[in-house]
Amino acid sequence: MAKKVSIVIPVYNEEQNIDFIAKEILAVTKSLNYIFEIIFIDDGSRDNTLEKIQLLSQKHPNIFSIELTKNFGHQNALKAGYDYATGHCIISMDGDMQHPPELISLMLKHWENGFDIVSTQRTYPAETSFFKKSGSNLFYKIINTLSDTKIEKGSSDFRLIDRHVANTLKNLTENSIFMRGLINWLGFKSIKIAFNANQRHAGVSKYPFKKMLKFAVEGITAFSVKPLYMAVYLGFIFSTLAILYIPYVIYEHYLGKDVAGWATVVVSIVFFGGLQLIILGIIGIYIGKLFIQSKQRPNYIVRTTNL
Ligand code: UDP
Ligand code: MG
Repeated sequence: MAKKVSIVIPVYNEEQNIDFIAKEILAVTKSLNYIFEIIFIDDGSRDNTLEKIQLLSQKHPNIFSIELTKNFGHQNALKAGYDYATGHCIISMDGDMQHPPELISLMLKHWENGFDIVSTQRTYPAETSFFKKSGSNLFYKIINTLSDTKIEKGSSDFRLIDRHVANTLKNLTENSIFMRGLINWLGFKSIKIAFNANQRHAGVSKYPFKKMLKFAVEGITAFSVKPLYMAVYLGFIFSTLAILYIPYVIYEHYLGKDVAGWATVVVSIVFFGGLQLIILGIIGIYIGKLFIQSKQRPNYIVRTTNL
């Protein structure tokens, strides 16, 4: 019997893209000798995304919907897809056509050849903003310097994972998920293929600067405690410098110049105050994570599904 392949697509306010991507996927999978299920995860959309999925689902018995109770974010929606998918392997992709469905057959070929994970590395279309490209490159540079789990630049959430990998993921109860890192961390036999990201089909990116920044901080702090060590080193370096500064202050005092030194005092108070805030902030992020994790809340809550 033909093997079953799940395609999971987290979508947030993508009403203009649902029909298009479903059509494209159905077209490229028609000729492949597998049973496909296409699962859209509606991540709390405020437009007609869910209705669009449900309509499609009535027309095509292999299209399914998972409705989350609110916007849990892309990574959590993706986790919902991985958890609910029933295929022998699962392919995840974005709902805006930036991940070309034509690659599905190549991914499946690698899977048939024994790879558990087929990940992808994107190159951006020429029109992508300089801001997005350099932001993404900088992010991977920082994460790889700080973390023991290496994540190559241009990694995306367009990938295939074997059932075995999905089952392993299901058993992890990590709260702030950064799927790209988590999957690398698992190990398994993997292969990477390159692809050219298309322009988004319709609508706008759901990752404005604020979300991108949050995603980056999540990604970094989910995989490394090195920033905490850095905080300690920084603190150590600057307190040494501050101690070295004391003889100079005494020297100034004996010359009767201490009022003139007022500026230096203010500058150092401001400087060290800032430094302390940064370090407290870093520690705060980790404590925040402990706090969230200790509550053991689920990554997502499903409102309805027809799976
Ligand atoms: N997405 C989601 N929840 C969110 C934000 C985004 O499910 O809170 C989905 C979105 O609909 C798309 C995918 O995640 O299918 C990638 O988002 P987007 O294309 O906006 O990101 P970009 O490609 O600009 O980085
Ligand atoms: Mg996109």
